[in-house]
Amino acid sequence: MSGKPFRIAIVGRPNVGKSTLFNTLSKTRKALVEKSPGVTRDRVYAKAEIADRKVTLIDTGGLLPGDEDRFAREIFSQAEKALKEADLILFVVDGQAGITPVDEELAAYLHKLEKPIIVVVNKLDGPRLDQVLSDFYVLGFDEIVGISAKHKRNLDDLEEVIAKFLPEETEEEDLEEDIVKLAVLGRPNVGKSSLVNRLLGEERMIVSDVPGTTRDSVDTLLELPDGRKYLLIDTAGIRRRPRIKERVEKFSVDKALEALRRADIALMVLTAEEGITDQDQKILSQIDKNHKGCLIVVNKWDLLDGKREEANVLMQQIRYGARFVPWAPIITVSAKTGRRIKDILPKVDEIYREYSTRVPTWKVNKALEEITQDHSIYASTGKRIKFYYGTQVETRPPTFVIFTNYPDEIPKSFERYLKNRLREKLGFEKSPVKVIFREKR
Ligand code: GDP
Ligand code: GDP
Repeated sequence: MSGKPFRIAIVGRPNVGKSTLFNTLSKTRKALVEKSPGVTRDRVYAKAEIADRKVTLIDTGGLLPGDEDRFAREIFSQAEKALKEADLILFVVDGQAGITPVDEELAAYLHKLEKPIIVVVNKLDGPRLDQVLSDFYVLGFDEIVGISAKHKRNLDDLEEVIAKFLPEETEEEDLEEDIVKLAVLGRPNVGKSSLVNRLLGEERMIVSDVPGTTRDSVDTLLELPDGRKYLLIDTAGIRRRPRIKERVEKFSVDKALEALRRADIALMVLTAEEGITDQDQKILSQIDKNHKGCLIVVNKWDLLDGKREEANVLMQQIRYGARFVPWAPIITVSAKTGRRIKDILPKVDEIYREYSTRVPTWKVNKALEEITQDHSIYASTGKRIKFYYGTQVETRPPTFVIFTNYPDEIPKSFERYLKNRLREKLGFEKSPVKVIFREKR
């Protein structure tokens, strides 16, 4: 069994029974509760098995939108992050207390997320209480299940409803995921140091220096409150920059390539001023060649405030200029105002999840068959090139070995086509894939 990790976030106002449900689901489903290291009480992750599929449960802590208390606001922002990465949300309410104004506020907030949501009416300890279930339809969600987390009542019903949202296959999430290695690339003056310093300035982030691989190279380790870790590679020149630049920094391709080589994902920084230049395209082609994940960060977007037409044209130019890395998402930010800087790491996570995905062999072969069946390509000898079967041999990058009769005669254009279709069919929307052709006699 394989697939992608599936994350279920449990939200609700305090005291409705979220933690109880969290523990019940993770324990009674014979799962090990594995609280990952570095996790604060804000967000707790656990593995669970629901309808025979592996899922990750996330307890979000209390969710109180609009609360004036600073501490509560902080918890809310943590919960918000959890919700953003969730594939399904269990919105827990208290069946004995009925709907409160906070529940309504939360419901309005959750509607905006446009994610699958199940309302879990908890504390229905006996059949006498079941009639209250219909009261909760006013919250505006279609899926409602009544349970008692404490007394383990109707958990099968809940499991059944959750199962409706589960893909056929899910992958167990590695909660002690390794550190995501990032290289920040781009021409001088695009705003790399401004961006990195903004990122490092984010709330409650632990930042530490790590010696790099060569003399005077320094990497920066970033730790989020929930334990996620990122290594910014070779940040010495980026972070410790004199306020006034006496000498113009020379763009070193070698240095950029060295950083890229060690990275999983490249943050390719462009600007709203210049869009994508020849030099940017050269870096992007290296990213492609090295099969690295990539997030294209268009900085200085503040310069286009109120210039919609110009922004559209620029975006088209960038998409076209980056057409050979169609899997690289594009994000527009401003290091100056801080706008959308906080969206960068969640985007990186999405890329990294795909970059780390393993696809079962039967799926690879089904896709391969579909892709190649109506394409006849021929070797120089005039013989038809056949693709026998394929399998994924690696992750990071996702690497596929495909057996064929003429591994050396496959046109580059067909290889590109094949990779794009494989990505499309196997769910690598934001990640490159690597294909190796092997001869089968
Ligand atoms: P959270 O703050 O939303 O995580 O809520 P907790 O899980 O800590 O539960 C709050 C209180 O509700 C605790 O005293 C639980 O024992 C109680 N509780 C949780 N589930 C149920 C239930 O199904 N029935 C009843 N009667 N009480 C419950
Ligand atoms: P680096 O050489 O790529 O590290 O670029 P810097 O971070 O040194 O930034 C180069 C120049 O661009 C500086 O003058 C910054 O103030 C400016 N800059 C950086 N980010 C932004 C932004 O988002 N908007 C605008 N308008 N200027 C920016």
